[in-house]
Amino acid sequence: LARGSNFNILRFYNEAYILESLWQHAFNRGCEQQKHDDNLTILNNHKAFRELWTRKEPTALPNSLWFGVLDLAQNLSRQTVQPVNLALCYYLGLESLQKSQCYYIQFKSLELLISLSYQEPKWFKDIVQEEIEKFIEVLPVNSHLKFKNLIHDINQKLQLNNEFLEHFSIDYEKKSIIKNNMPDKTSNPLLKIVVENFTCKITGQITGDFLILSCCGNTVSRDAINKWESVSISENKLFKCPFCRSEIKMESIYSLAQNAMIKGLYKRLAQMKGEQISDDDLSLTINKMNVFEIHKSSKSLSS
Ligand SMILES: [Zn+2]
Repeated sequence: LARGSNFNILRFYNEAYILESLWQHAFNRGCEQQKHDDNLTILNNHKAFRELWTRKEPTALPNSLWFGVLDLAQNLSRQTVQPVNLALCYYLGLESLQKSQCYYIQFKSLELLISLSYQEPKWFKDIVQEEIEKFIEVLPVNSHLKFKNLIHDINQKLQLNNEFLEHFSIDYEKKSIIKNNMPDKTSNPLLKIVVENFTCKITGQITGDFLILSCCGNTVSRDAINKWESVSISENKLFKCPFCRSEIKMESIYSLAQNAMIKGLYKRLAQMKGEQISDDDLSLTINKMNVFEIHKSSKSLSS
């Protein structure tokens, strides 16, 4: 995003834009996966899998993008200082693990999940362990050992990686960004912060269609702003920000569409929110915009 008066406010949302894009690319590929059964066979073949690592040229397989997405998420999770982004990386890993039938993607999803439990053990250690056990349980018995070995290797890889980074002290003095312990395990605090993230502070509805108000950096759903604007016009009042009370100028509103994440998390969100999220709301949200589309009357963000 361009440097300018709104640079700092928008910078706070950079990771949200990146995460949306990662979700978009992971699961667009995921949906196509059923059509690539041949490729799946290749990927699940041990020899071919090993060759992937020894080949010199970059791989051009259908799941390479998905693999890269998970790798980027793992990097992002190391850098972020926003707990909700850690939760979104976790769910990206978990959804990938559950949706993909490809060994190569399952390996990378597990690496992402296990790296989170090293990084923030209080939040992730138990929950990741639990999900991995659930995942192994439904696998055919003859592949249990294979997966346990894989998890062992991933742990070793991550431990070596951490030792390496500590040894060369490559900017790895990262402190925990989680202030409190996992509170009540039954209420799923990870999902709670995700739900909070996607709930409009004005309407109380879950949506992926937010606007960033650059006056104070708060986000609000497009629905709320549209209604608020028409009320202001009909009552002949100034169109004021509901948070900081300064006048809202249309050219300083930026779109923050997060529809791929809403779509990917829909089942989990619906479970948490009960009936407050309907299919109609969701399809409306999904059809409205692409992630980088900017509000109609706003100025261009690209420099
Ligand atoms: Zn404001």
